[in-house]
Amino acid sequence: MYNKERAVALEAVRSAAVLCRAVQSEITPDVLTKKDRSPVTVADFGAQALICRALAREFRRDPVIGEEDAESLRQPSNEGLLARLVEHVGAVLPGSGEKEICEWIDHGGFGEYSDRFWTLDPIDGTKGFLRKEQYAISLSLIVNGEIVLGVLGCPNLPARMGDPDERGVAFVAQKGGGTVSVSLEGETRPVPVSVSTRVDPTTIRFCESVEKAHSSHDDAARIAKRLGIVADSVRLDSQAKYAVVARGEAEAYLRLPKDDVYREKIWDHAGGAIVVTEAGGRVTDITGAPLNFTGGRTLLNNRGVIVTNGLTHDAIIESIRALDIV
Ligand code: AMP
Ligand code: MG
Repeated sequence: MYNKERAVALEAVRSAAVLCRAVQSEITPDVLTKKDRSPVTVADFGAQALICRALAREFRRDPVIGEEDAESLRQPSNEGLLARLVEHVGAVLPGSGEKEICEWIDHGGFGEYSDRFWTLDPIDGTKGFLRKEQYAISLSLIVNGEIVLGVLGCPNLPARMGDPDERGVAFVAQKGGGTVSVSLEGETRPVPVSVSTRVDPTTIRFCESVEKAHSSHDDAARIAKRLGIVADSVRLDSQAKYAVVARGEAEAYLRLPKDDVYREKIWDHAGGAIVVTEAGGRVTDITGAPLNFTGGRTLLNNRGVIVTNGLTHDAIIESIRALDIV
C-alpha cells in the first residue's frame, strides 16, 4: 500500500533538497552578520512550491497542510524575493512562472484536516539552515488521523553513522513497513534503520533543540540528573533529532514546553514521528499520551514531545512526572 505515494513523496523531497542546497550555497558570512533571512525564505517557499506541485499533480484531491502560503510574496515590496524564487525553482523545474509557483505554494498554505491529508514543513530548522548546520524537509501522509507514510530529507546529516564526509540522507517510513535510509541524490539500496538497544540510563544520549526558546534546557538537565545520564545533550536543529534517534545515535529526543500556551505544529513532528516509530522507537507527549494529529494545524491536545528508542521511554515519562514538569 501507498507505493505510489512513497515514490512521489521521495522524489518531491529530493527535488526540494536540490533547491535548498543551491540556495544554501549562496549564504555568505555577510548574510549572517546582516541578519538577512531572505535565503531561508527563498528556500522555504521554493521547497514548498516543488513539493506541492508534485502532490497536486498526482493526488489532486489530497489537502496539504504546509507551513507557508504565498500571500506575502504577492506584495509589491517582495518583488525581489519573488524574482529569486522564480530563478531557483526554474533551475530545478525549467519554465516555472511566478503565478504558478505562487499557486503551488498556496496549495499547501490553506489545507485543512481531512480523512486523508499531507503535512509539509518545507524547511524545518530555519536557524540551522542559515548556520549551515542541520535542517530537514519533512513530508507525511495522514489517513484517518494516523501517520501512514513519512519522508524526512536531511541534506546536512552525515549519510552514514560516524562518517562526516558524505552529507545528505533521506529517511522513508511506511506504517508497518519499517524505516529505511536512502541517498538524497538518486537510487541507492535502501538501508534498514533501527533504534538503539541501550537501556541503562547512565549510558544514554539525548538530543534537544539548539534554540532554548523551543524546549526547556533546564528541565532536560533536571531529567538527566535524576536518571543519572552522564553524557551532555546533543543539540541539533530540526527533525534531524528524530533521524538521530531512529538511527540509534541517541536514545531520546526531549522537547519540553517553555510555557503552557504554545501548541506544537503538526508539520514539525509527523514526518519525524513515523520515522522513529517504524524504526522501533516510541513517540508521545510529556504525559505519555500519543500525539493526536486530528486537531488541525497543531497538536491541540498534547504538550511537548518525548521521542525514545522505546526502552527508555517509561523511565523518562516517570521522571517528568516526579519532577512535576508541566
Ligand atoms: P527545532 O529546530 O527543533 O528547535 O524546532 C524548530 C521549530 O520550532 C520551528 O519549525 C517552529 O515551528 C517551532 N517553534 C517555534 N516556537 C516554538 C516554541 N515556543 N516551542 C516549541 N517549538 C516552537
Ligand atoms: Mg518547522
